[in-house]
Amino acid sequence: MTNPSNDACTLPNRCPQSSQLIEHSPGDTGTVSWPVYDLIVIGGGINGTGIARDAALRGLTVLLLEKNDFGSGTSAYSSRLIHGGLRYLANLELDLVYESLAERELLLKNAPHLVRPLALGLPAYGGGKTPFWMIEMGMCLYDFLSFRKSLPWHKVYGATGFAARYPKILKSGLQGGSVYYDAQVDFPELICVENAISAKATGKASVLNHAQVTHFEMANGRITGVGFEDTLTGQHYQVQAKGVINAAGPWLDQVIALTQPDTETQASALRPRIGGTLGTHIVVPRFQGGPDTALYVEAESDGRPFFIIPWRKEFYLIGTTDLPFQGDLDQAAGSLEEVNYLLTETNRVLPQANLSVSEVLYTYAGVRPLPAGNADKPGKISRKHWIEDHARDAQNPVQGLVSVIGGKLTTYRNLAQATVDYAVRAFDLWLPNGQVVPDCSTRHLPLPGGAGISAIESYKAGHMATASQRFQMAPEVIAHLIDLYGSRFSRVLELTAENKEWKQPLCNGGLDILAQVVYAIREQMACTVSDVMLRRIGCAFDADAGMQSVAQVAQCMGAELGWEASRIEMEIKQYRAFIQARHLHFRAVSVVPTA
Ligand SMILES: Cc1cc2nc3c(=O)[nH]c(=O)nc-3n(C[C@H](O)[C@H](O)[C@H](O)COP(=O)(O)OP(=O)(O)OC[C@H]3O[C@@H](n4cnc5c(N)ncnc54)[C@H](O)[C@@H]3O)c2cc1C
Repeated sequence: MTNPSNDACTLPNRCPQSSQLIEHSPGDTGTVSWPVYDLIVIGGGINGTGIARDAALRGLTVLLLEKNDFGSGTSAYSSRLIHGGLRYLANLELDLVYESLAERELLLKNAPHLVRPLALGLPAYGGGKTPFWMIEMGMCLYDFLSFRKSLPWHKVYGATGFAARYPKILKSGLQGGSVYYDAQVDFPELICVENAISAKATGKASVLNHAQVTHFEMANGRITGVGFEDTLTGQHYQVQAKGVINAAGPWLDQVIALTQPDTETQASALRPRIGGTLGTHIVVPRFQGGPDTALYVEAESDGRPFFIIPWRKEFYLIGTTDLPFQGDLDQAAGSLEEVNYLLTETNRVLPQANLSVSEVLYTYAGVRPLPAGNADKPGKISRKHWIEDHARDAQNPVQGLVSVIGGKLTTYRNLAQATVDYAVRAFDLWLPNGQVVPDCSTRHLPLPGGAGISAIESYKAGHMATASQRFQMAPEVIAHLIDLYGSRFSRVLELTAENKEWKQPLCNGGLDILAQVVYAIREQMACTVSDVMLRRIGCAFDADAGMQSVAQVAQCMGAELGWEASRIEMEIKQYRAFIQARHLHFRAVSVVPTA
């Protein structure tokens, strides 16, 4: 379907029942569209959703297009740390560390329900790649670069002190260690979702998941818009814009290739911008004597640092690897070799862990959208981000397209600010009536769920008892919902007034309730069972990889969205197939048939 010259085209509506919301801002109803958007943003990872939010909050009209779901790309497959990147100090990237530490502080304030302080222990062993004195110097620098932080400063321990702090750690060769603070985001997928919701709530942005950009509309060497496919219906759309931002993460080169008329010119005319590396994590149950903080350890076999991170109350998330990657980005998965590497190194530093492959619940793997470069080792490739204006490409100039290369979860807000600042100049954007586009406002603006929360624990303490009484739900459920939705937790519970059944727990043995599934559809733009399982509630990361709860979630979605039995069946199958292909699992899936 194409839009006739001066009319806005009708876009797919991703909130079919949003009119039933109990309370919503003007932009929450339906999907808005304009004849010509100021900006189209391609890619709904942390960077693309951050850019869309930043631009919409400044009053620009924006269309965000995500081919799968918000936060379904690399942003979902990270170590889930909001960190300065101690390791980048070794590469002398002080500006990157400074930026990351400043953004860490902002995220702790703006998303206190999702981003929490995390203590990390860093042991130093004789014969290690990094001597103790150098670690200590790095720690002081790390503290110095974040001297106005809210997190505690690091502490240094001698061998005895460190061993007392971490009694099960390998003692042989231990020289001492430090305990320092960074931050952790259990569920970065929700930061992407909250950015998308916030962009939409301005009334200036249309945000579409399951919308894959298939081609560019071009005139005289200038991009005038894009064509995209609604992958849920197979319908095609064309939309116009003054400028396009390519925030497709590791898929960035594939999007740039769409500027070329055919595959032959793509191969000959385009240099690669991305040299992605694969990083795999394993998830194991917490084990006896395991650390109560994260550990940041140097691997013996190759000197690479890796993390053992307490995650989601019941697990350790262990990773990551860092391997050159050439394969299909949509099929990235970890290998048994990587799993064994992570197990061996964990067992070495925590000998009593005694982990084997059978303890691994599942793995996940992602491709870092790193700039193509000739660093001799993947770990040496810079994690900085930069903006490429294709109008300035000497060989293949294309007006109207800007690509965002690299980046980290941690620095997404600042990246978004810089990108929108650049786009305003490059695409000559103005507000209606000729007003100048205002400066970025996200620095001190909480994400939707962070509004009204200054300290999460006191917020919980202040609301658990009253909400528990008002909604007749256990205080632990209230606390769990605050962890996921922040100050929007009551919106989930208010849904139960419509249907008491939605107070029922999901059968995952956790604290999730059915109302969350309905909320995911109505307020968080979830369209498929996988959207809910992987990126709204997170049942996919339960010990059974969501195999018990998927049918229940699908039934609930089916009732809410009027799905036929065949659609429910297909959704369950698609979810299971995804988990089997992408989350290499050992214990989780083997216990449940995959019919
Ligand atoms: C193993 C690993 C560990 C990491 N750990 C950390 C960490 O602990 N802390 C940290 O700060 N950073 C970490 N990172 C880095 C961080 O995860 C990434 O830099 C960040 O998530 C990139 O976000 P993005 O939005 O650019 O890309 P993505 O999240 O990949 O988003 C790009 C999106 O574009 C979409 N897309 C692609 N093509 C199209 C198209 N044609 N049309 C529409 N949409 C399209 C994709 O579906 C995808 O959702 C880690 C990365 C990896 C791989």
